[in-house]
Amino acid sequence: MQYLSTRGHATRQSFSEILLGGLAPDGGLYLPEHYPQVSGAELESWRQLSYAELAFEILRKFATDIPEADLRALTAATYRQDVYCNARPGDDAAQITPLHTLEERGGTTILLQSLSNGPTLAFKDMAMQLLGNLFEYILTRQQAELNILGATSGDTGSAAEYAMRGKKGIRVFMLSPHRKMSAFQTAQMFSLQDPNIFNIAVEGVFDDCQDIVKAVSNDHGFKARQKIGTVNSINWARVVAQVVYYFRGYLAATTSHDQKVSFTVPSGNFGNICAGHIARMMGLPIDRLVAATNENDVLDEFFRTGVYRVRKSAETWHTSSPSMDISKASNFERFIYDLLDRDAERVRTLFAKVEHEGGFDLSGAPGSDGDEHKKVAAFGFQSGKSVHQDRLATIRDVQANCGVMIDTHTADGVKVAREHLTAGVPMIVLETALPAKFNETIREALGRDADRPAGFENIEALPQRFVVMPADAAQVKQFIVEHTGL
Ligand SMILES: *Cc1c(COP(=O)(O)O)cnc(C)c1O
Repeated sequence: MQYLSTRGHATRQSFSEILLGGLAPDGGLYLPEHYPQVSGAELESWRQLSYAELAFEILRKFATDIPEADLRALTAATYRQDVYCNARPGDDAAQITPLHTLEERGGTTILLQSLSNGPTLAFKDMAMQLLGNLFEYILTRQQAELNILGATSGDTGSAAEYAMRGKKGIRVFMLSPHRKMSAFQTAQMFSLQDPNIFNIAVEGVFDDCQDIVKAVSNDHGFKARQKIGTVNSINWARVVAQVVYYFRGYLAATTSHDQKVSFTVPSGNFGNICAGHIARMMGLPIDRLVAATNENDVLDEFFRTGVYRVRKSAETWHTSSPSMDISKASNFERFIYDLLDRDAERVRTLFAKVEHEGGFDLSGAPGSDGDEHKKVAAFGFQSGKSVHQDRLATIRDVQANCGVMIDTHTADGVKVAREHLTAGVPMIVLETALPAKFNETIREALGRDADRPAGFENIEALPQRFVVMPADAAQVKQFIVEHTGL
């Protein structure tokens, strides 16, 4: 399997070649040259597999340049019950992403698929844990090393650190805004004592952290010397790892491949739901893929109207589902490429327009850039929006009527899912974090603290390891040099 760029760059690359990288050389995103197809018979044969075995079956279709025995060992080492051990009491943790029935409504069943039972209690562990093992494997084979530099406001940084801790050949330098993360998220990251993990608390806001990462990455000499890389959500291996749980959720909710299911996905950078799109393109019988957004409704606006209009930093809301607070959706280009029948020329033109004019318009209106919005439904996509009061009401309602405590992002999902039900088609809402991570809003909704999985009771009291630095790229570079010895 070879990979190509959504903007048409001529060079095809293998899975291993794009594994450690981000964007293609022309600024596009990588996609496989075609989507491997899964027949009904093959799907049936996967029903009895463990999660790790299913991950192997799907990944081997994409990572064709990794020997199968190695890939099998990597998926087995990743998807273990002792890693994804934070299941709700009563859920079967051995399933890795267990389904939990929430309610009967609208002639169908709404189910919650737990993706947040990993070490950092958010769905990013599903892909990031695999990435940690894949990176170590490839770097060992190449006798190379990698220094990951990232900026985080919470979930991504902690998932990356827990995936890379103790890995040979890898260091992580993670910038976060000093005193701006929740106490829980800060404790999760800063309590790591592994010598290859470096937490840098920047005196500034998240955008300052991101600006420093950009400044360092734009110094190409420094980047090459210090072997700087990233793990952001456009990484192809992250997307493909997320394809697995759509298959898993489908198989758990059905008894025959004649049946369909729908998914509602709390969305930010469009990575998670993009994996659902790919699963559907591979032949998984998905009826609807519903994107749930918060106040930052760039995606909902596109799916409703065909107009993609990115926001400026100052226009981005800081909400109580902060991991969905995005100004543009970095994985969206992958979907647009398929929506435009893989016309790389047009993708290049449209995303140049995003750069210069802040968006594009596929509504078909006079003067617009195209009329492909009318094809969105054929790809199964729908969308909806949820705001702070909806979150509070949904958290309360799901607690009272379903007996389940859900986090703020998942609440956005449940709110929107309830507006998009089809009789007879099970609706699976992806649970993207556990409520313990967002305790402040749980208290506001329920008047009490969120449930915490065992082992997390006192993490705020653990010793913390971090350095504080002014928002200054030169000082960050200096720190990196001192700790890589390169
Ligand atoms: C990252 C994240 C999201 C958004 O996922 P995307 O792949 O960026 O769409 C939603 N909820 C939580 C809790 C997250 O951490």
